[in-house]
Amino acid sequence: MQYLTEYRERASVEKISAEIQRITTRPWALMEVCGGQTHAIAKYGLQQLLPPEIELLHGPGCPVCVTSLAIIDQAIAIAARPEVIFCSFGDMLRVPGSHSDLLSVKAAGGDVRTVYSPMDALALAQVHPDRQVVFFAIGFETTAPANAMAVFQAQRKGLGNFSLLVSQFLVPPAIETICADGDTRVQGFLAAGHVCAITGFEAYQPLAQRIRRPIVVTGFEPLDILEGVLMCVRQLEQGTCDVQNQYARAVPREGNRPAREMLQRVFEISPQHWRGVGEIAGSGLRLRPQYSAFDANQRFPRVTTGRDDSRGCISGQIMQGRSKPDDCPHFGKACRPQSPLGAPMVSSEGPCAAYYRYASRYASRYANRKPARSQYEKQELPNEH
Ligand code: SF4
Repeated sequence: MQYLTEYRERASVEKISAEIQRITTRPWALMEVCGGQTHAIAKYGLQQLLPPEIELLHGPGCPVCVTSLAIIDQAIAIAARPEVIFCSFGDMLRVPGSHSDLLSVKAAGGDVRTVYSPMDALALAQVHPDRQVVFFAIGFETTAPANAMAVFQAQRKGLGNFSLLVSQFLVPPAIETICADGDTRVQGFLAAGHVCAITGFEAYQPLAQRIRRPIVVTGFEPLDILEGVLMCVRQLEQGTCDVQNQYARAVPREGNRPAREMLQRVFEISPQHWRGVGEIAGSGLRLRPQYSAFDANQRFPRVTTGRDDSRGCISGQIMQGRSKPDDCPHFGKACRPQSPLGAPMVSSEGPCAAYYRYASRYASRYANRKPARSQYEKQELPNEH
């Protein structure tokens, strides 16, 4: 398959792996920001293809994991209302709130629907003018433009029964917060390629200088990730801290201008609460005042549960690179995909789900031990992602 198999090709992977081994002279800890990258690393056993000096830490880029307990409780309260059709990506349905989850609301008769895009929810609003259609707008810079477009179209169509429950996050302030911790082990970042496909990476240049660490915009295939590691380690070994773009086939320097313009037209920057981490200034998006009629928080009563959003889950520690999923005392015991205690065990981008699913290939306690045979030595890679 063109544009896919070439990024999983064994000879190329082995060549880059060997080059990383050749240039590495001392220990380095790198953080892959995106949960999609974490899953690719786990799935393909990429940590095992690295020299023992290089450790990969898992970043805050799982949108389901970072969504706060308060907003999940608000989602549950809205979804339980009889006049509401509540639309969400499937991952959010099983994320535990304070007392329940969206799937339980659905089981109890709530009209909770899984959709694949905010435009699906918009279409529902058009065919159900007698119902209130709410879309759970979660995610990073990648999802924000489509959410903005849905609101823009709803306003143009005069739809008074459509709204967003917004939980949008911005990546650069999270990177800066991680580095502001004097005890952080992170020495370089593999930035999320799909985020930068929207935002570009010009803004990352001053960020890299401020945090004094290299940032490499990196894709999601095995070859992408290993090449990102190589570029990052090369900088670390040379003592530089620049921004480099490994994912040039998808990420232009200036990003996607129409998407950025739509995002900026509808949203403005706000403080944001990251589950397990706390509030980070300037790390969220909210609807601009001229679009406040489409804000579900303004349309429906606010609920406050006041519960601690960690409840023994160490997701915040994991997503700041301080711990690994199997450091959690609940991992694989009280917390499993069938009975999750935290979002990282539910989400398709969650680090705990990755460890659980691919435990034989990537448990952190084995991270630096070279197995007898890696994924690449066992078989040709499958084409599915
Ligand atoms: S194993 Fe479960 S409780 Fe522990 S950090 Fe992961 S999601 Fe949270």
